[in-house]
Amino acid sequence: MKIHEYQAKQLFQNFGIPTPAGEVAFSSDEAVRIAEGLGKFPVVVKAQIHAGGRGKGGGVKLAHSVDEVRTLAGEMIGMNLVTHQTGPEGREVQKLLIEQGLDIEKELYLSIIPDRATAMIVIMASEAGGMDIEQVAEDHPEKIIKVFIDPLLGIQSYHCRAVGYSLNLSPAVLKQFNKMLSSLYKLFVHYDCSLMEINPLVITREETIIALDAKVNFDDNALFRHKDIMEYRDLDEENPLEVEASKYNLNYINLDGNVGNMVNGAGLAMATMDIIKQAGAEPANFLDVGGGASAEMVENGFRIILSDKNVKGILINIFGGILRCDVLADGVVKAAKKTGIAVPVVVRMEGTNVEEGRKILTESGLNLITAVDLKDAAQKVAALVK
Ligand code: GDP
Ligand code: MN
Repeated sequence: MKIHEYQAKQLFQNFGIPTPAGEVAFSSDEAVRIAEGLGKFPVVVKAQIHAGGRGKGGGVKLAHSVDEVRTLAGEMIGMNLVTHQTGPEGREVQKLLIEQGLDIEKELYLSIIPDRATAMIVIMASEAGGMDIEQVAEDHPEKIIKVFIDPLLGIQSYHCRAVGYSLNLSPAVLKQFNKMLSSLYKLFVHYDCSLMEINPLVITREETIIALDAKVNFDDNALFRHKDIMEYRDLDEENPLEVEASKYNLNYINLDGNVGNMVNGAGLAMATMDIIKQAGAEPANFLDVGGGASAEMVENGFRIILSDKNVKGILINIFGGILRCDVLADGVVKAAKKTGIAVPVVVRMEGTNVEEGRKILTESGLNLITAVDLKDAAQKVAALVK
């Protein structure tokens, strides 16, 4: 799960990690009130969306007066912000972070992620932080250093010093940095984070070190034990079809292609997506209705696929085991009768109660195309969406 910068900064403050003074605003009036409260200019007006690259896309601006805050906030709220991370369709800005402007001496890069290859937690840091870090990683990978931490031992002061020295920090800053890094690490482990990135981490002219940006992602599988983080979930930032699917415990991920597919079992779903691609088409989604799905879950899953306007054809690939073919057929027919099917549907079904399932589909009067096996199904649906 992703959260907004302003929320990540609240967590930072709870852990004693310095961030600029600021607050979130949902309107230009609120933005002005917050700016006045900050007491001095410049202030920074920052679009809050679940994507980075805002600076380059026009989503981070300095304001030098109350009037400028009002104008910028008015322009940004409701704007469609396009960055290299949002894709060309962009994201609508609904909230802003209004923050005290800082006198920046130097921009550093710092991130913490789990490294699956070594089963360690890796800290990455660079003196060349700021908006061009991707370019630095490309052209000068040696400018990004990595320090690995055994999660069973946790962070030690020598880890902090190793990172701090590599950043060429002055003694005064190094002291603040060591404390900051061990707090960041604690936060990372405490909340089961999957990523934490501060870019830039800035050194000010007054020789203080402050997290100017904050990106924190969480492992969804651990969210059940972090109710406070769940409160941060922003459904406006998520794909509406995925939000809908999550209500019914469906494992659904929206994709770019035009072949909708409904499958039971994650492995079979992966194989189905592969064979759709081999047949020359692109899957529009991943959907594992689950082994023990009810007719109601199948109905909801099918309805969600039908409501995706990119879908030009559907492949239903079910191997009836615990989920019986007749239950599946029942759900499909119910959804189809309620929503109506405007696209061709190819069905490949095998396993428990397959005859009963086929009978329900045939007697439904729906225009379904049956396939003999997986390959045949994929080729049929690929030909139909061409
Ligand atoms: P991102 O582009 O989405 O990663 O947004 P950031 O929060 O990193 O902001 C982009 C850039 O805006 C930073 O790299 C800074 O150079 C600049 N910026 C942000 N806040 C301030 C500030 O308080 N003062 C100054 N001078 N620049 C700032
Ligand atoms: Mn940034």
